[in-house]
Amino acid sequence: MLEYQTTLKARCSLSGIGVHSGKPVSIHFSPAEPDTGIVFQRIDEAGTGRVIRALASEVCQTDLCTALGDARGESVATVEHLMAALLAVGIDNVVIEIDGSEVPVLDGSAIGFVDAFEQAGIATLSVKRRYIRVVKPVRIDNGGSWAEFRPYDGTRFEVEIDFETPAIGRQSLSLDLNAENFRQEVARARTFGFIKDVERLWAAGYALGSSLENSVVIGEDHKVINMEGLRYPNEFVRHKMLDAVGDLALAGARFIGCFRSYRGGHRLNAAALRHLLTDRSAYEIVETTRREQGRRAEMVAVSAPVYAPWTL
Ligand SMILES: [Zn+2]
Repeated sequence: MLEYQTTLKARCSLSGIGVHSGKPVSIHFSPAEPDTGIVFQRIDEAGTGRVIRALASEVCQTDLCTALGDARGESVATVEHLMAALLAVGIDNVVIEIDGSEVPVLDGSAIGFVDAFEQAGIATLSVKRRYIRVVKPVRIDNGGSWAEFRPYDGTRFEVEIDFETPAIGRQSLSLDLNAENFRQEVARARTFGFIKDVERLWAAGYALGSSLENSVVIGEDHKVINMEGLRYPNEFVRHKMLDAVGDLALAGARFIGCFRSYRGGHRLNAAALRHLLTDRSAYEIVETTRREQGRRAEMVAVSAPVYAPWTL
């Protein structure tokens, strides 16, 4: 676990289209001071200069994607793959300028963000990083799906999905999150959808930028339509894990604990996070301190000073 906060070493930019809006968009990432957190600013004509913080308290929509800000006004949608990359690579502070209402979808995965951040480099700052340590189990049930946080020494995700279509079926994946295994196991997994839903989504104004270049699509015959096939045999559960990492990055600090979900999605992830953050007996805020134990150093968690940017 890192002891100090980080930011980017240099500014970097990406561009593409929004998967729901279908519109071109550019996004710029700049180094930021300690305790800035992850903040968005719209720089297109609709932007008023308002700072939209990437926190659970700013979530305004969880249908099909996670959006922050004011649902009827200034907002930024589809933040989850970007947020997952920031959390996994380990970037605490960054100012994100965007000239549209939606983060570019790129290839439907998080690898483009991971590559951009690793290329820009990571700078260590002189202020300690805080963690949210889960100290008691918290669970939320919703019909046939559930999600829970459990105390655990590390940041672990256990995700299971169960779809009727034999193209997906039942898949599960567990991961003790770090930058390396996120890149190898999760970052390249793409968004997926069903051809039978496309017309309904288009009529509702969603998925207008969706294509085989940024989504795995399952046809009426329960087969993957994309010519190139899948990037991993269980790409679907890997993408669900990517979404969970991104949605939980909105805690405002990395959590120390195990997040488990069954048949989850953006709405359940957001609800589970709110459930945790509103129960003050379920977590504590800690910093880590390096202690020398003979010849080896180990990180020990200690209570942090009062600090609660994620207050709901
Ligand atoms: Zn996703």
